[in-house]
Amino acid sequence: MNPVVIAVAITGSVPRKKDNPALPITPSEQIESTHAAYEAGASLVHIHVRNDDESSSSDPDRFAAVKAGIVKHCPAMIVQFSTGGRGRDPSQRGSSLYLKPDMASLSTGSVNFPTIVYENHTFLVRDLATKMRDNGIRPEIEVFDLSHLHGALRLVEAGLLDDHPHVQFVMGVENALPADEHLLDLLLGELKRILPKATWTAAGIGRHQAPVMEWALQRQANAVRTGLEDNIRVTKERLARDNAELVEIAADMIARKGLRVASCEEARMILDLPGRNAA
Ligand code: ZN
Repeated sequence: MNPVVIAVAITGSVPRKKDNPALPITPSEQIESTHAAYEAGASLVHIHVRNDDESSSSDPDRFAAVKAGIVKHCPAMIVQFSTGGRGRDPSQRGSSLYLKPDMASLSTGSVNFPTIVYENHTFLVRDLATKMRDNGIRPEIEVFDLSHLHGALRLVEAGLLDDHPHVQFVMGVENALPADEHLLDLLLGELKRILPKATWTAAGIGRHQAPVMEWALQRQANAVRTGLEDNIRVTKERLARDNAELVEIAADMIARKGLRVASCEEARMILDLPGRNAA
């Protein structure tokens, strides 16, 4: 049985705590929410931090506090910082990478989001990739468009990325890629053609979370992604209790496919993160 990594994106950058009181905002809420998700089977946590007014933050002290709490309470869990997120000054998006999380998200191109252009200038992409390489951080390549795969390939060719990056397809963001099974095949086909050694996962936003996960598991994805950053509902009528409930749903789906949930140690093997921050 192939182990599958469950990645949990606990907070995100959208200010919607009023819509979902379970969204963790403060570092202590984030550590607690991550711990519950870890107990439910998550082996990778994707982190955005917030200011006290819930706006997106790039404050290294916040990132450091959350990372320290997770390393202490969730042994061997993979810690991934976001370098994206709306409302952040581009020059600050890499300002916490010196803290050497295991991984960091890296968008390799620009795209339209619901109300903004998510701008990732080539110079910024290369700067972030350089910081990640120099700090020994493994990027997770965020693919919002087919051209972003080729953006990743250019980083490989420039020596800024190894030949087996971890790639996440993001589907269902309004104005970007629709959540469509055929599109996932198209993206995956291109990934296998240009970066055949890459590991991969897919994230479905909002109501697309469960179907995208299902399609990914049917195609031997190395990981699935869940969490309140992407989706706050279990059904149309009911909000998710917390991040842990979304992880439980992912774990159930993995089991139903005849697969099993990866331990943190297995997740580190799958994503080529030997021993870092491990207990
Ligand atoms: Zn994120």
